[in-house]
Amino acid sequence: MEVRYWETQIETAPRKAIEKLQLKRLKHMIEYVYWKSPFYGRKFRELGLHPSDINSLGDVRKFPFTTKDDLRKHGYPHGGEFLCVPREEVVCWHMSSGTTGVPILGGYTRQDYDTWMNLVARCYVTAGVKPGDIIMNIYGYGLFTGGLGLHESAFLIGATVIPWSTGRTQALIKSLIDFKATVMSGTPSYQYYIASLVKEMGIDVERDLNLRITIPGAEMWTEEMRRRIEEWLGLKAKGGGARDIYGATELCGPGAGQECIYEKGFHFWIDHFLLEIIDPKTSEPVEPGEEGEMVFTHLVKEATPLIRYRLGDITILDDEPCECGRIAFPRCLRVRARVDDVIHFKGIKIMPSMIQETILRYKEVLEYQVVVDKTKLPYDFVVKIEVPKVYESSLLVEKLLNDFKNNLFIEPKIEVVEPGSLPRFEGKSKRVIVKE
Ligand SMILES: [Zn+2]
Repeated sequence: MEVRYWETQIETAPRKAIEKLQLKRLKHMIEYVYWKSPFYGRKFRELGLHPSDINSLGDVRKFPFTTKDDLRKHGYPHGGEFLCVPREEVVCWHMSSGTTGVPILGGYTRQDYDTWMNLVARCYVTAGVKPGDIIMNIYGYGLFTGGLGLHESAFLIGATVIPWSTGRTQALIKSLIDFKATVMSGTPSYQYYIASLVKEMGIDVERDLNLRITIPGAEMWTEEMRRRIEEWLGLKAKGGGARDIYGATELCGPGAGQECIYEKGFHFWIDHFLLEIIDPKTSEPVEPGEEGEMVFTHLVKEATPLIRYRLGDITILDDEPCECGRIAFPRCLRVRARVDDVIHFKGIKIMPSMIQETILRYKEVLEYQVVVDKTKLPYDFVVKIEVPKVYESSLLVEKLLNDFKNNLFIEPKIEVVEPGSLPRFEGKSKRVIVKE
């Protein structure tokens, strides 16, 4: 497999060189927010912290965490107390779809925007996208960073982008064929829906589809889902695959990490974001290989930089050098869940990814939905599955029930429902419903 780089010198630098760069940038960033950010300036002074306290990367732990609550209380609108530049220097705002009423913001100066586009270009190239590729971008365009984030960056690498956004899925599939699209970026749920339609329509993917790479992101997905997307769209046969992109509104949007052609978790771009993985309960650092919550500090950001921001995403860090040569950039073995999305059921913690892994292991299952009803006593845990009409499902139900008991230590009710009766998703999915 051919490995290509966007910024060869940085991407192939040894860890020591990147750490040196990180420390230089961290010192500058702490100094910057100390003087420019009303929020951090006040907080650091209250705690007796000073920029001169940073002498090593580990010294960042002297500084307090920043939380989503801090952003909601002090960062809205126009970045509130987090804004470090005159308001007029902000060229755009993105917002996350907060459920609590106050959105989380991401603000960009002209330079922040260029930095972002450059990072996404790095992601595209890391995923194996080349000049001349035709990218069908099916992330939603708007306040969500996905659509616009993967749009302009495509120009930088010399690719063509079709800003489909979401919807009109049959017409979208026709365009994939007519335009000979080679790359598709969008949520894994929408890619999965498209792939299942392509399969259902009996399209000859080897002959009629040119898709080689897909770039799923913005929500949790699993190896089982990857296998299906790759198989149903014929990506492996063309030397490509489905490769995870990582991001969040608070970081910069998509572009903070990207899975390379070896598909072993996404490389996190630590030259831009200092990464810590902590135990969400004790807030102490965990070792690579152990599960923990991602915490990041902006190293390059003008408008609204964040220090030790608790992302809430749970992952496992793999610090073994990757065959692609990006040896300084550790890989995150997928985001398994957001802390908020973990289901607490009868004293057991269940991640939505564990449910997906368990269910989609059975190729007969086309779609599923989980309903946890905590308004009832005892709680209800119902797993609804769709299987083809002709399929005799009693053995499958039995096997699935055993898997849930053995792997997740719960005994759900399993209901087999009519094919096509469960929702399909054109953006982020909602397969797990918790009633409280
Ligand atoms: Zn790699």
